Amino acid sequence: MNADVFLDLFRGQEALLEGHFLLSSGLHSRGYLQSALVLQDPCQSERLGQAIADKLRHFEATSVLTPALGGVIIGHETARALGIRCLFVERKEGEFKLCRGFAIEPGERIVIVEDVLTTGGSTRETIKVARAVGAHVVAAASIIDRSVPKADLKDVDVPFFSLARISLHTYTPESCPLCDEGVPLTKPGSR
Ligand code: ZN
Repeated sequence: MNADVFLDLFRGQEALLEGHFLLSSGLHSRGYLQSALVLQDPCQSERLGQAIADKLRHFEATSVLTPALGGVIIGHETARALGIRCLFVERKEGEFKLCRGFAIEPGERIVIVEDVLTTGGSTRETIKVARAVGAHVVAAASIIDRSVPKADLKDVDVPFFSLARISLHTYTPESCPLCDEGVPLTKPGSR
């Protein structure tokens, strides 16, 4: 499957929204990818997990680590395709933490999987959690990379892969042209 096929999955589910959105990073944007609409179909999410797994297989990871909630389904499907386990971090008092008895061994080979990479913020935070317990983060991936400018993870020394890339500009609230135009802001994340 090529990149267009993956973006068409989002278009087909009306999961590529246009408007004025507040992203979880605090930035504003004209576009939003509601990946839950694509991942609601288990056959679809399985195929996407297999496609991500194909890009990550040669890293020989022993666990997928993913940021909840957005990354859980695709992380789990990727782990299934790789034949390894999937753990998730979740936000507690503003910081991503490993909870629920999840444990990572020092030296373990970890891949980070997200649904959509916007700024790379969640993936970077997830990498930090893995490294804090002595794990080796060997790669990261997402279904869609929407980052502008392109957020490779070279600064944290982790190779990054996505199934498709789409440029969706983000703005700080202070410099947002949609705010200037008075377009109502919506928070689409979990609504
Ligand atoms: Zn705005």
